[in-house]
Parts: sequence; C-alpha cells; structure tokens
Amino acid sequence: MAEILVLGAGLNGLVTAMLLARDGHSVTILERDEAPPGNDAENVWLEWQRPGVNQFRQLHFMLPRWRTLMQRELPAVLDQLIAFGGSRLNVFDQLPATVTGGRRDGDERFETVTARRPVLEAAAATVAQRTPAVSIRRGVKVTGLLTGPAIIAAAPHVTGVVIDGGAVLRADLVVDATGRRSPVGAMIESSGGRRPHEEREDSGFVYYARHFRSTDGSRPTVLGPLLQHFDSLSVLTLPADNNTWGVGFTTSARDKQLRGLRDASAWQAALKLYPTAAQWGEADPITDVQVISGIEDRYHRYVVDGEPVVTGLVAIGDAWACTNPSLGRGASIGMLHACVLRDLLRDVGPDQPEKLVRRFDEITESTVTPLYRMTLAFDRHRLNEIAADVAGETYQTSDASWAMTKALYAAAPQDPDVLRAYVSVASMLCTPPEALAAPGMVAKVLTLGANAPQYPTPGPDRAELLATIATPR
Ligand SMILES: Cc1cc2nc3c(=O)[nH]c(=O)nc-3n(C[C@H](O)[C@H](O)[C@H](O)COP(=O)(O)OP(=O)(O)OC[C@H]3O[C@@H](n4cnc5c(N)ncnc54)[C@H](O)[C@@H]3O)c2cc1C
Repeated sequence: MAEILVLGAGLNGLVTAMLLARDGHSVTILERDEAPPGNDAENVWLEWQRPGVNQFRQLHFMLPRWRTLMQRELPAVLDQLIAFGGSRLNVFDQLPATVTGGRRDGDERFETVTARRPVLEAAAATVAQRTPAVSIRRGVKVTGLLTGPAIIAAAPHVTGVVIDGGAVLRADLVVDATGRRSPVGAMIESSGGRRPHEEREDSGFVYYARHFRSTDGSRPTVLGPLLQHFDSLSVLTLPADNNTWGVGFTTSARDKQLRGLRDASAWQAALKLYPTAAQWGEADPITDVQVISGIEDRYHRYVVDGEPVVTGLVAIGDAWACTNPSLGRGASIGMLHACVLRDLLRDVGPDQPEKLVRRFDEITESTVTPLYRMTLAFDRHRLNEIAADVAGETYQTSDASWAMTKALYAAAPQDPDVLRAYVSVASMLCTPPEALAAPGMVAKVLTLGANAPQYPTPGPDRAELLATIATPR
C-alpha cells in the first residue's frame, strides 16, 4: 500500500483522501487554510476563513448523483451532514402532485442531502479527521514539487512536495486537489517539465446570490425546478441546512444593465417579478448580495501529444477541470473522478508510474471528460442565448442537441415521464441521450416542448426587469 499526499482539503481532496485510506493507503492531506472553527454549523458558516476557495460562501447544492455516490462510498459523510443540520430532500416530494403525477417507485433516486458550502465541507472534514490512515495538516502551503530520477524523458518524476519554509515531504503518489486555481502546472514547469495541456477561458457568467433563513422553520413552496431559465437570466433556488437556503440570479457578466442586481433592494424587487421563485425571497436574509464573476472554465490534460508531462502525480476535481457551476456538478464530477483514481490504484500501483498516469488519463478521458464537455456545451449555448436576449434577438443554432435540451426543459412540467427524464439529467443520474432513449420519449418531448415558448415559466420581459432594477428606492 502507498504513501499518498493529497494537496488541498476542499470537498474533492477530502473525499479522495477518505476513499484512498479506506483502500489501505496512508494518506496525508496538505491544506494551506485553517481548520473549521468547532463542530457547529453556525460557527462554520460565520467564522471559517477559507481564502483558498473563492466560492466558499456562494450557492451550493449537492445533486442526487453526489448523494448516491456518497451513500455507496462514504455514508458517514451524509450522517455527519444530517447531524450538522443538512437537509434530506427529494424534489418529487416538493413539487405539486399535479406536476409529478404523485410519487412513483424509483423516485427515491432523486433524493439528496445538501447544505451551505461551509457546512458541507465541515461534514466531510469531520469524517476525514476521524478516518484511520488520513492525516490532515492545515496551515501548510505547498510551494514546489520534489522530483527524483525521471521515468520518462522530459517528464519530471514527482516523489513528494516542498512546503512553506522549505521542508520536504515524500510520497509514492501526489494527488493535486488544489482547486480551480491549481499552481501545480507551473510547478511541473519549474521542475523542468512541460506544462499540462490547458484549455482556459472566462465562463462569462456572473452570480448575484443571497442566503436566507426561515423565521418559522418552514421552507418555501417549490413551484419549479431549482434552476429556472428566463429572458436574460436564470434563477437558482437552493434548499440548504438548518432552515436556510440560497437564491441567486446567474447571467452574463457582460450584461452591464443587470449589474444593478448588486444592490439588495433592487435584487429583492427583481426576485418578486418571478412568480415561481419570488417566495424564496420572503424571509430573513442572512447575507447581502454576494457577487462572483471571472469564473473560468479550465480543463487540463497531463498526457500531451501521447506522452505524460509528469509521473508520480495526478490531478482530480477542479484542479483537473471545472466549468461555470450553475448546473451544480462540481462535487459530483469530482467524486466520480476520485472513484476512478481509487479503482485504478487497485490494479496499477504507484510502483508503475508511467502506466498509472497513462491509464488515469485514458479512463478520465473516457468517463469524466464527456461530463465536462457536456457541461461546457450547455454553458456556451446558454450564454449565447442570453446575449441574444440582450440584443432583442432569438438565439439560433444548428446544434440539434440544444433544441432538444430546450424542448426537454419546456416539456418537463407538462408530463410526469418527461419530468423524470429532465430531473434525471439535471441530477446527473444520466446523460440527455440516455434520458431520451426511453421508448416514446423523443416523440413526447418534441410534441410538448418543440414549439413551446422560449421561456415557458412566467416572468418579466427584459424591459420590465431593467425598469424594476433601475427604479430608485
Ligand atoms: C459560484 C460557484 C458555485 C458552485 N456551486 C456548486 C454547486 O451547487 N454544486 C457543486 O457540486 N459544485 C458547485 N461549485 C463547484 C464546487 O465549488 C467545486 O467543484 C469544488 O469546490 C471543487 O472542490 P476541490 O476540492 O476540487 O477544490 P476546492 O474546493 O477549490 O479546494 C482546493 C483546496 O486546495 C487548497 N490549496 C490551494 N493551493 C494550495 C497549496 N499551494 N497548498 C495547499 N493547499 C492549497 C485550497 O485552500 C482549497 O482548500 C460551485 C463553484 C462556484 C464557483
């Protein structure tokens, strides 16, 4: 069994460490930020300082796919999340029966457990802390890579890391889980190697988000999907822990006229314009409007032109690839990726360094990269569509899969089977082609959704939205 260093104690770093330790490896996590302040959701939410994670207090929701994986692999994390006040919920218990057709066998797959991001991470950290063979060292910044004799020409062979102050820590394998701003590509270059292949651009989205807490313990009535699309923007309504929830507008960062949503009173007035989301703003806000933009899509590949750029090191989670997160897939994709690594290490140990990085690249490309690409494709279309809204035009594309995506969204509230297909895709339980493969599904989706209005859910047009935001208060 191997000595493994995991760089970064974010959601995916913690999960990777626990999975590997349960397989008998000895795992040390190195994290530059400090530990959670105690075992209480409110302390964690209010006090935990995490400069290493920009989105730490932004909207988060754990998809049913994440819950399914967690239930199978690390159920103690779900138990801890519930103990911290996390919400166990199923959207099919919350939407009106007129829309769902009532609860059916199999709907339990849509269950999830979710919380505000700091609480989610504290739950994972608490379980990791008590996992035998996992040790978490916090306040430790990794500054460089330690290398030994190369296995492949021009590819540094990583044998450990250098930390702040110059000390070195050795390992059989280093796992980069340092998140979307991973410094490890530059470290490989400093060690004499080539940088990994990188695709990188600003996703183009901005979030205007607030968190709320119920005054009487009740949660707002669910009248639509958690992610609702409208003219010029989308609205997220995300249940969380301890009677809290998050609400956010996501839109194009280029849309200067919507920047008035930074103002809390304009934000509240705008939310009231959306009948299926307005009720989520009728409670006590526990944050001001939190804005995040400049969120980059990034994708890395560590085998370039058929040759590994490094051995002894692999990257998982956001350090490997990340996109605009409005589909809420980061933790689910990261956990899938961590499972890929754990499974591979059962067959190919760090004592076969070249085979390990090549196989990890191949399996990542065949199983995880397609999820990244699909998410990116959705984002690109949605951003183009918003740009068309702003220009007063209708978005046109020759990509038939976008037309199908739109038709599925529009048809979902009109038919319980289509609704289940839509929610399966949104929950990352299957891909759109898999959902549409059910007998008769394509015909149903096209009949109900192909000629539906662009945005079937009631909401303001752009002029009304802009006028509301601009109204002096
Ligand atoms: C606005 C926004 C909303 C999101 N909403 C959702 C959602 O609803 N659902 C979802 O599943 N995902 C969501 N995501 C994505 C999710 O936040 C990420 O996928 C997830 O945090 C990635 O976890 P990670 O462990 O890979 O990286 P991170 O959580 O970024 O953790 C990286 C860790 O590495 C540490 N680190 C960095 N450099 C060093 C170093 N040199 N030495 C030591 N430590 C270091 C950092 O301090 C940090 O703790 C959202 C993202 C954004 C931006």
